[in-house]
Amino acid sequence: LIVFDQVVKRFGDLTVLDHLDFNVAAGERVTLIGPSGSGKTTILRLLMTLEKVTEGHIRIGGEPFSHMPRGSGLVPASESYLRRRRKSIGMVFQQFNLFPNMTVRKNIMEAPVHVLGLSKDEASERAADLLDLVGLGDKIDAHPTQLSGGQQQRVAIARALAMRPEILLLDEVTSALDPELVAGVLDVLREVAETTDITMLCVTHEMGFARDVSHRVLMFDKGRIAEEGHPDQIFGDPREERTKSFLKSVL
Ligand code: ATP
Repeated sequence: LIVFDQVVKRFGDLTVLDHLDFNVAAGERVTLIGPSGSGKTTILRLLMTLEKVTEGHIRIGGEPFSHMPRGSGLVPASESYLRRRRKSIGMVFQQFNLFPNMTVRKNIMEAPVHVLGLSKDEASERAADLLDLVGLGDKIDAHPTQLSGGQQQRVAIARALAMRPEILLLDEVTSALDPELVAGVLDVLREVAETTDITMLCVTHEMGFARDVSHRVLMFDKGRIAEEGHPDQIFGDPREERTKSFLKSVL
């Protein structure tokens, strides 16, 4: 479903992704781990078209997705295609970014109504179903400020799911939470993983969660994949020194 083909991303002199190749199959759940600054978040930002590739290309569903660099000879994806594609990709960030002046229900309804064109009734029903899924059915008319960080993050997950995305990108979604709130959010994501066939790309420092939900783990170091494999192998029997020392530092 997702193909990175020799993707290079530079910020000035800094090479953040260095000729990166990897594929993600439809329905696959892939976790990205690695030291700070190794380029994990940049990968998600490229997929959200918040950044452009410097060289190489990204394809989603066989079609070029990235803005192609000039002179590459490749046809750039059209704006209308990118707009359409972006709708099929949901993202949840470390900071929940809920609209503070809207109720939880309105937060979830906003994009389905304005981007997908759902009626208010349909969007409201969808919001209620998703809030039940994340265990917050009774908070539908609350404002974000009345919720704990963990509850706000569960609303942010419901909001992303309300768009029925084909791909869900999760960027350290529990990093900003108090430790006692982390488990509730991870339980919701486990539930999403078990009950849907959404393709998930997840950057996390929660190794137990990564081990439970992912089909494959990619270990990044300096913009390249240092090691990849089944979570049992990566966590139980890492082969590369860089993976071993990284895991020692976080476990
Ligand atoms: P972390 O776990 O700390 O989030 P990461 O592996 O996700 O790390 P990235 O956020 O992808 O790493 O960042 C990789 C490198 O790119 C970092 O050195 C960062 O400072 C740099 N970088 C990211 N965005 C920009 C930008 N817009 N301009 C300049 N440098 C940037």
